[in-house]
Amino acid sequence: MLLIRCPYCEEERPELEFRHAGEAHVARSGDIAAISDEDFEKFFFIRSNPKGVVFERWRHVHGCARFFNAARNTVTDRFLVTYKAGEPKPEISAEDAGPAAWANREPAELNETSSSRLKEQVTE
Ligand SMILES: [Zn+2]
Repeated sequence: MLLIRCPYCEEERPELEFRHAGEAHVARSGDIAAISDEDFEKFFFIRSNPKGVVFERWRHVHGCARFFNAARNTVTDRFLVTYKAGEPKPEISAEDAGPAAWANREPAELNETSSSRLKEQVTE
């Protein structure tokens, strides 16, 4: 079972409690009526959809019902980090984004301990 950490409830819960809500950090124009059709098409339809790390919105529908963001690796289907809506996109190193990345860490914890944890994994 896939566990997802809700940054508001501060606990890991089964994926069945959550709903995917599209790509995160998609900026909406302040005056949507004034933008061109091409720019509206990009805003409304075009998503990055990379192989690897994606930043997504999720909602804890059967919990606190709040929206939050997550970085997930589409190759491994592992959640690298979850963070509250409105917080900046965390930097994910190539090492952390790889198959050895660990799931559901706070952005600060990911940044502070990523190299020491990777060293532990290498020496084991
Ligand atoms: Zn929650």
